[in-house]
Amino acid sequence: MTTHSTGKVALITGAGRASGIGAAIARRLARDGISVVLGDLCAPPSQHPLNPGGGQWAALQAIAEEIQSMGVDALPVQVDVTDPDSTATMLEMTLSTFGRLDILVNNAGVAVGPSPVAQMDRSAWLKTIEVNLTGVFYVTQAAIPALIQTASQHGHGRIINMASLAAVRPKPFLSAYAASKAGVIAFTQSLAQEIAGYHITTNALLPGDIDTDFKRWGLQLESMVRGKTYDAVVKAAIAQIPVGRMGTPADVAAVVAFLCSDEADFITGQAIHITGGRELMQAMIPGQTE
Ligand code: NAD
Repeated sequence: MTTHSTGKVALITGAGRASGIGAAIARRLARDGISVVLGDLCAPPSQHPLNPGGGQWAALQAIAEEIQSMGVDALPVQVDVTDPDSTATMLEMTLSTFGRLDILVNNAGVAVGPSPVAQMDRSAWLKTIEVNLTGVFYVTQAAIPALIQTASQHGHGRIINMASLAAVRPKPFLSAYAASKAGVIAFTQSLAQEIAGYHITTNALLPGDIDTDFKRWGLQLESMVRGKTYDAVVKAAIAQIPVGRMGTPADVAAVVAFLCSDEADFITGQAIHITGGRELMQAMIPGQTE
């Protein structure tokens, strides 16, 4: 079936993992007739047990081909969001291919080397902040002129930044990740005021437990640290979610699709929870959930 094109173009970072939130957002926006640029680092896979893995070029290409088979344009781009030259090149490729940019989704993220603050490797701290926060700044700064230009011609633009529930409900051993995501919310809310006058809305999303390879890696680490089975850790996590299940990447993608629609023109500067109500649960006494 061929999808009707809206003419709009979205750029999504961190879209190179088939199981990931970025790929789900790309598929969903494509279904809504939006052409997509799919950016990812595509770093060589590492066998290190503390490495969460990441997008690969073959997967990025496969996601782009899947979208093209729906009759929607998709451009895969290898990019490092921590490198301003690389992000500038991604924007040049976007504009030379499509000539406009309506939507930016800053989704790339990492949680390098979780550990107690006292023992934290400084390079792990810096890398986490660099990808999750500074990377959002670099890509956004590169994209703003194109977003403003497109909004001036077509009426509106969107910036959606992937924060996390961890920004407001931080877990121990993930201080760098939590701090970076809290920074994303503050960055989003400052930027929202700067560019609302161009009819560009800017919002942050706070997903809770979303079932991706990245999340499964986190749960695996938790099971090792706590000496519990993986299944017990998953069960305990789900017990903390009022709706009684983990979120799916499609749950997050649906919110992105709504924010990208004309109906969401009056929503800006928000930090939107996609958590199944996780943050509403009372703090449990350690051990009580098992
Ligand atoms: P994921 O690992 O599938 O996606 C992250 C992607 O970012 C990977 O493909 C990775 O290759 C890419 N990336 C890493 N460094 C990069 C760089 N320097 N330049 C470009 N790309 C880079 O994980 P996911 O679970 O789909 O998470 C997507 C986003 O959602 C992340 O920002 C994550 O922090 C956030 N998030 C996830 C959850 C969850 O439960 N899965 C919860 C809250 C927030």
